[in-house]
Amino acid sequence: MTAEALVRRPVVEVSNVTKSFGDHVVLRDVSLDVEQGSVTVVLGPSGSGKSTLLRTINHLEKVDRGQIHVDGDLIGYRRQGDRLHELRERDVLKQRSRIGFVFQDFNLFPHLTVLQNVAEAPISAQRRNRREVEDQAKELLERVGLADKAAAYPRQLSGGQQQRVAIARALALQPKVLLFDEPTSALDPELVGEVLDVIRSLADDGAAMVVVTHEIGFAREIADTVVFMDHGQIVESGPPSQVIDQPTHERTRAFIDRVL
Ligand code: ADP
Ligand code: MG
Repeated sequence: MTAEALVRRPVVEVSNVTKSFGDHVVLRDVSLDVEQGSVTVVLGPSGSGKSTLLRTINHLEKVDRGQIHVDGDLIGYRRQGDRLHELRERDVLKQRSRIGFVFQDFNLFPHLTVLQNVAEAPISAQRRNRREVEDQAKELLERVGLADKAAAYPRQLSGGQQQRVAIARALALQPKVLLFDEPTSALDPELVGEVLDVIRSLADDGAAMVVVTHEIGFAREIADTVVFMDHGQIVESGPPSQVIDQPTHERTRAFIDRVL
């Protein structure tokens, strides 16, 4: 085996992605690699395209140009010779089930218990054995500190608890990468810490993730790479000691000064 063959591909490869809504260009030639076991934090003002970037990785939005690979798979398309064909919905869902997505507003199923929320997708989408999935779901609830809430309904939980359930639900899919879109923005300040603690422990365990957040202190602590976006472009990226503490671009500096 050659040395090259031993080098693992990035788990997420975003290559020259452009995306518009009507005339409005929301992502401009965005490229981003997320290495296995690494944490990428995306910073940027509201409207800069952060959510759209995450949504394209999950194929919740289609790109106009460029390509995205997750774990080596081309997202949303299959290649035939040098032509690309759109995947059928069923195959898109299969790809999506390998990408954990945690939304700002939790998005739990209100009519399902906590345990059912965590176990639902592995049973119905991944067709895994119910018993096994439920056992795993209980372990995941323990991991996020909610073993005692398995039978509760989302409305009976605080926002921080609901978000921790949402994280357990994402983990239940045994994803290749976890995407977090401002996971603490909808929380009361006193509940932010418990969610950040869970995300931090996942990072410590070597989960690959992309985290959109305005929590600069947290970003500095967990990020291997910080990406600063503005107007649909990646303005700069690098380790936190560079992008947060010594940004080279004026736009980055102005943003960091504002949110610190
Ligand atoms: P961020 O997450 O950085 O705040 P978004 O990715 O949500 O930014 O949005 C980037 C821009 O794209 C915004 O101007 C937003 O209004 C626009 N946008 C996002 N989603 C849609 C959509 N479905 N249709 C039209 N415009 C959209
Ligand atoms: Mg957003």
